[in-house]
Amino acid sequence: MLRLPPFTYMVPRSLAEAVAMIANQEPAEAMLVAGGTDLYPNMKRQQYEPKILVGLRQLRELHGLTGNARDGLTIGAGMTLTHMSQQRDILTGYPALATAAGLVSTPQLRNMGTMGGNLCVDTRCNYYNQTYWWRQAIGFCMKKDGATCWVAPGSTRCWAVSSSDTAPVLIALHAQVRLVGPAGERLLPVHALYRDDGISYLGKRHDEIITHILIPPATGTVMAYVKVRRRGAFDFPVLGVAVALRLDDAGVCTEARVVLGAVASAPLLAPEAAAVLVGQRLTPEVIDTAAQVAFRPVKPLDNTDLTLSYRKKMVRVHVTRVLRQLAGLSVAPHRWDAGDASMKEIG
Ligand SMILES: Cc1cc2nc3c(=O)[nH]c(=O)nc-3n(C[C@H](O)[C@H](O)[C@H](O)COP(=O)(O)OP(=O)(O)OC[C@H]3O[C@@H](n4cnc5c(N)ncnc54)[C@H](O)[C@@H]3O)c2cc1C
Ligand code: SF4
Repeated sequence: MLRLPPFTYMVPRSLAEAVAMIANQEPAEAMLVAGGTDLYPNMKRQQYEPKILVGLRQLRELHGLTGNARDGLTIGAGMTLTHMSQQRDILTGYPALATAAGLVSTPQLRNMGTMGGNLCVDTRCNYYNQTYWWRQAIGFCMKKDGATCWVAPGSTRCWAVSSSDTAPVLIALHAQVRLVGPAGERLLPVHALYRDDGISYLGKRHDEIITHILIPPATGTVMAYVKVRRRGAFDFPVLGVAVALRLDDAGVCTEARVVLGAVASAPLLAPEAAAVLVGQRLTPEVIDTAAQVAFRPVKPLDNTDLTLSYRKKMVRVHVTRVLRQLAGLSVAPHRWDAGDASMKEIG
C-alpha cells in the first residue's frame, strides 16, 4: 500500500488567511488542497512533494451558488462534484455541466472532489501516473525528476494530457474563474486558465485560489457533453466533447463552441468546426463537415489509455453524435470495432 509522506496541514479560518498562508511560498514546497482526490494519490506516488498543504475545504467563501440560467450562475469553487451533478439550477439550466460533473471518477470521489480541484486536476500520461519505483525503473521523465520525454524522446516539452471533465464544458459556455491571490482579485476566462504544456499546465500563479466559477446566462443555449473512457464505472476521459450552440427560431445556428478534452495538454477549442456551423441549419451534411473539420487538427500521442488512432477516430464520431443530438436528429448507436469490445460510452 502506498502511504502519504509527512506534511504540515494548515487550516485557514478565512480566504484572506489562506492567501496569506500560501503567499511567498515556493510552488514545490506548499500547495493548496481541496478534496485531495487528485493531489493525495499524486503525493503517494511522489509526483508532488509539498511540505505544507493549505486546506480549502472549510472556507465558507468558497461555497454556495447564486443566480440562475437566465441571469448567469456563480458557483463556489468548493462545491463538490456530487452537488454539481444534482443541483437543480445546474441540471436544468446547464445540463452539460451537470453531466460532466456526474461522470468524474466514482461516487465516493465525487463526494470529496470539488469544482476548483477539477479545474486544476493534474495532466496525465502513462509514463507519469505510476509509482515512484516504476518511474525510477525506466528512468524518470521530464514531468518529474527526469530530463527525457518517453512519449516523444526528441521533444523539449511534456505532452501529458489535460483530463478535466468539467473544463471543456465551462470553456464552451464562456465561463470565467475568479482568482484571489496576494496581488488581489482578478477574473480569467476558463480557456485562459490552461496552457498547452503538460508540466506548466495552468495559466495562473500557484498562490492564486479559484474562489468562484462565473457562467454567463444560458437562455437559448443548447449544450451537451460526451465522455469516452474504457470503464463506465470510473475512468479519466480519453476524449471529452463539449458543445454549446445557439439556434434561432428557424433552427439556424447563430453561435457555436466546440471544445475537446483529453486530446492535448489543454482543452482544445475547435473554432473552424464552429465556423462551419454558424449561419447554417444543422443538417446531416453540415454536421458531417463540422465533425470532419474538428477531427483534422487533433493529434493525440501514445500516452493515455486506448490507441491513438482510435482516439483520433472517436473525435469525428462523437462530435457528429453530439451535434446530431442537439439538432434533434437520430443518433445511431456506435458499433465498437472488434478490438474495442470492452469499451463503454457514456453521455
Ligand atoms: C481513481 C480516480 C479517478 C478519477 N477520475 C477522474 C475523471 O474521470 N475525471 C476528472 O476530471 N477527474 C478525475 N479524477 C481526479 C479528481 O478526483 C477530480 O478531478 C476532482 O475533481 C479533484 O478535485 P479535488 O477537490 O479533490 O482536488 P484536489 O486533489 O484537492 O486538488 C487538485 C489540484 O487542484 C488544486 N486546487 C484545488 N482546489 C483549488 C482552488 N480552489 N484553487 C486553486 N487550486 C486548487 C490543488 O492545489 C491541486 O493542484 C480521478 C481521480 C481518481 C483518484
Ligand atoms: S509526455 Fe513525456 S514528459 Fe510528459 S509525462 Fe509523459 S513521458 Fe513524461
